[in-house]
Amino acid sequence: MKNGQDYIESLRLLKTKVYAFGELIDNLVDNPLFRPHINAAAETYELAFNPKARDLMVVASHLTGKEINRFTHIHHSTEDLIKKVKMLRMIAQHTGSCFQRCVGCDALNALYSVTYEMDQDQNTDYHQRFKNYLAYIQENDLMVAGSMTDPKGDRSLRPSQQADADLYVHLVDKNEKGIIIRGAKAHQTGIVNSHELLVMPTVALSAEDAAYAVACALPVDAPGVFHIFGRQTNDERKKGCIDQGNARYGSVGGEALTIFENVFVPWERVFMCGEWQFAGTLVERFASYHRQNYGGCKVGVSDVIIGAAAVIADYNGISKASHVRDKIVEMIHLAETLYSGSIACSVEGYPTPSGAYYVNPLLANVVKQNVTRFIYEICRLSHDIAGGLIATLPSEYDLFNPEIGPYINKYFCGIKGVPTENRFRIARLIENLTGGTSLVESMHGAGSPQAQRIMILRQGNLEYKKRLAKNLAGIKEEI
Ligand code: SF4
Ligand code: FE
Repeated sequence: MKNGQDYIESLRLLKTKVYAFGELIDNLVDNPLFRPHINAAAETYELAFNPKARDLMVVASHLTGKEINRFTHIHHSTEDLIKKVKMLRMIAQHTGSCFQRCVGCDALNALYSVTYEMDQDQNTDYHQRFKNYLAYIQENDLMVAGSMTDPKGDRSLRPSQQADADLYVHLVDKNEKGIIIRGAKAHQTGIVNSHELLVMPTVALSAEDAAYAVACALPVDAPGVFHIFGRQTNDERKKGCIDQGNARYGSVGGEALTIFENVFVPWERVFMCGEWQFAGTLVERFASYHRQNYGGCKVGVSDVIIGAAAVIADYNGISKASHVRDKIVEMIHLAETLYSGSIACSVEGYPTPSGAYYVNPLLANVVKQNVTRFIYEICRLSHDIAGGLIATLPSEYDLFNPEIGPYINKYFCGIKGVPTENRFRIARLIENLTGGTSLVESMHGAGSPQAQRIMILRQGNLEYKKRLAKNLAGIKEEI
């Protein structure tokens, strides 16, 4: 297994092509725009060497029996699924931000079971290929990005009906050595600081869309692949320290648009090529695994938000006010409700034909749906408690300016004995944890709310519920 420093150094060996602010980046690792995201992902490596975290982070590979990092593991029990949620909550408590590596873990797990089922049905040999690839990932402890979301163009049209065929990643050509793909994937969490990426379809497909039924693995620096980094709220503050709020780990995952310009993929890294019948299952599996996560990582971040709200209440001298205590109770209640959902969908997990365990998809989608609401409410309550200063504070450069600094210290102070700088620090942390990009991530990360509602209706077994009602009402109908 790699530790945090090994991971960071391993990124220096890649030739990942990344653009940001209109320029090609030449030293990604030391660039302050990316470094917080890299530091957050590094925790997924470093914590594997922390004796207190080991039970959650380290597991035996079902392929080799060797110790591996859980982010490269295929879940083989409900205990595995539960430990994943606990691991995510624990890491988020450390980082207060997204640490990105879960997307690849979910892609690995989804492809593991779906390639098995595809082989059974279609007489293909994808599963063994995929197991070879998985062994490579485990052996080298690599970070994998999950590349699912296509740009989609006109959302009312299917992939094959789009005016521009590239709006969904598709097969361009194939020969005896491999395939060539073109297109792009949007909102790619952590991709610029991953080693590998796993391309998957983003919607259920029909026979006409067979060219879009492509799943494959690529190094993030493969020829023809490049990334355009997304802007984030307050990213120009990255030259400062206090003003960033969470200078070490940032806030969201560091998302990018990844472009595939006629990229060659050898057959041993191709795990679906034309089997459109399995695209929908793959999307659902991946999405449910990823939605399971949100009552882990978002709750870990919420633990930090709740703590920060309580600290600023102390600094403002209002922590004993009954309405403040009640708001803190409400925040804890909401966070633990989210956590309960993630634990529940894990406890109700079950084995797929491949032996890999899957979550209860209905409960996983309910968790993510709740995240789109409860995180906003938790953030709203933290703003309520913190006060207007999280939106109006001057910068750290003013705080430390010899001329005006004394005025800032005087007029931005809270209770006696607490340095104004500390009040600045906690206010900026709340601003970072609850504002702009990070809040939107709770809405649209792991799929937009409507995507969960479609799954909830599909999994909700409405016909059974109707039968229950008719039965009690004494209604007898011919079926
Ligand atoms: Fe992992 Fe959460 Fe970030 Fe998604 S949002 S990659 S689940 S930490
Ligand atoms: Fe996410």
